[in-house]
Amino acid sequence: MAVLQIGVLALQGGVQEHINATRAAADKTKIPISLRTVRTANELAGLQGLLLPGGESTTLSLLLQKNSMLEPMKNIPGLFGTCAGLILMAKEVEGRVQGQEGLDVMDVGVNRNAYGVQIHSFESALQATDEKNNLTGRLRIPFIRAPKITKIDENAGVKVLATLPKTGEPVIVEQRLAGRFYLGTTCHPELKTSKVHELFLKELQAALRA
Ligand code: GLN
Repeated sequence: MAVLQIGVLALQGGVQEHINATRAAADKTKIPISLRTVRTANELAGLQGLLLPGGESTTLSLLLQKNSMLEPMKNIPGLFGTCAGLILMAKEVEGRVQGQEGLDVMDVGVNRNAYGVQIHSFESALQATDEKNNLTGRLRIPFIRAPKITKIDENAGVKVLATLPKTGEPVIVEQRLAGRFYLGTTCHPELKTSKVHELFLKELQAALRA
């Protein structure tokens, strides 16, 4: 089996947690990966998948622009963004500050700080949209200054995988495009489970084979 080339963007945020969850996911799925942290445009070369940790999307955007990384990142076939990472991937962002540019690759809209400030952070179990994609079981997953997903383009292949039980709001979304796989979460599954990372590796591998 070909070794998947996976990177974790390591400019800011929950980098180590994503490294741990990705390694665990590779072990569980038996998908061979080569995993490296990425801080420069040169380090993006040859990557098939990139994880975008949470943090602060404004800061991440400025660092990515400064390092000329936004354009080359758009060519990576697999992207998995949690929280600020999803904000970077979304085509529409409410609450962007001036100069905040993103990748504009995923056909979703998000509202940056829709759940409030840090003290409004919370944990919740997630509701899978289908028993087959019950990724988190009964685990309570943290939402930290989380964005809300406000728009989903189903015609573009975006699908909701999990919602917040209380409100029905989408919290895990995927998008399958020819030769590409995008995954975004408003919460932080990397703190509790490798299941969402397992889905990312499996679907990315399938997308690259198709
Ligand atoms: N709402 C934050 C932002 O705009 C993201 C918070 C997070 O990644 N935990 O970047």
